Amino acid sequence: MTVDSTPSELKPLDFRSDTLTRPDEHMRSVMAAAEVGDNVIDTDPTIRALEERVADVLDKPAALWTPSGTMANLIALSTHLRRGDRFLAPRGAHVLVNELGSAAWLAGGMPDPLDHDAGPGRPRPETVRAAAGGTGPYYTLRTTLLSLENTHNAAGGVAIPPDEHAALVAAAHDAGLRVHLDGARIWNASVALGVPPATLAAGVDSVSACFSKGLGAPVGSVVAGSTEFVEQARRMRQMLGGGVRQGGVLAAACLVALDRVDELAEDHAKAATLAAGLRELGWDVTEPQTNIVLAKVEDVNATLDSLRALGILTLPMGGKVRFVLHRDVTSDDVTEALSRIGKGLSA
Ligand SMILES: *Cc1c(COP(=O)(O)O)cnc(C)c1O
Repeated sequence: MTVDSTPSELKPLDFRSDTLTRPDEHMRSVMAAAEVGDNVIDTDPTIRALEERVADVLDKPAALWTPSGTMANLIALSTHLRRGDRFLAPRGAHVLVNELGSAAWLAGGMPDPLDHDAGPGRPRPETVRAAAGGTGPYYTLRTTLLSLENTHNAAGGVAIPPDEHAALVAAAHDAGLRVHLDGARIWNASVALGVPPATLAAGVDSVSACFSKGLGAPVGSVVAGSTEFVEQARRMRQMLGGGVRQGGVLAAACLVALDRVDELAEDHAKAATLAAGLRELGWDVTEPQTNIVLAKVEDVNATLDSLRALGILTLPMGGKVRFVLHRDVTSDDVTEALSRIGKGLSA
């Protein structure tokens, strides 16, 4: 393979996102065979089975399937917030920058981004306490929610360890705030830290998680919390148009996805290999903790174009180049990408 091959001759190596993963034959056959019912009128047995299993895995009283992680977060924020409430979230959080402002537009919340002063992806508990303020006169702004994210996507897929998670939840609760956890990639955090997902969702009032990323399901997320929370969340899901009928065919994919959480370790290993290789080539990359590699470059758009010319697809994230490793890119693809970059692109 020569450097001046045109992209059309090169096998595309797609590192844009772990959402690119496609359902394989096994997942499709389980979906096709799923037992179903009308999940709006009464219940769909496969959705119910998924919700029960997820509630168990996350150690919450109840869980609710949703079509997307964006809807899961919106449902949680809408349930926790009243119009005009301020909520706190680490700067760059998905709920702040990647959900089109729905936290404000639909959930009525006023966002207050917190600096990552405890390390990438997380504020210090004291910062949460200070930002929460306290009770004041009747004309004081109400701050009612802390929304965390684990792993933190924009910070490069960093996994927040259980002790730091617990300290943040305690600080928020002490200040009278509820806590939502955007755990779109809580599975990656769990695998990277070697702790059960429930440990990383301990104490929170709600947690969302995705199956449509590195786990390969085509559709599906979940939001979990108390029984009362999920009752409210179910009404909100219906209001948002997320009440599907024979959704069991989709939930079946999520059940298969749940069986594959351990396999995320392979994505993390591929990310480490890619980061090490890029560093050898003189790139400025941070050591990945999970499946995301962020590279600091002079000119992001120019680098994205140069990579594309080599048949390597990536996306920008916070002014850096983001490579996401997933089950549909192999170790050989990583080797091939490094070889193309080595021949065709200087750092
Ligand atoms: C992808 C993602 C979401 C939203 O999930 P969708 O299913 O794409 O709507 C939420 N939070 C984080 C951190 C994500 O990476």
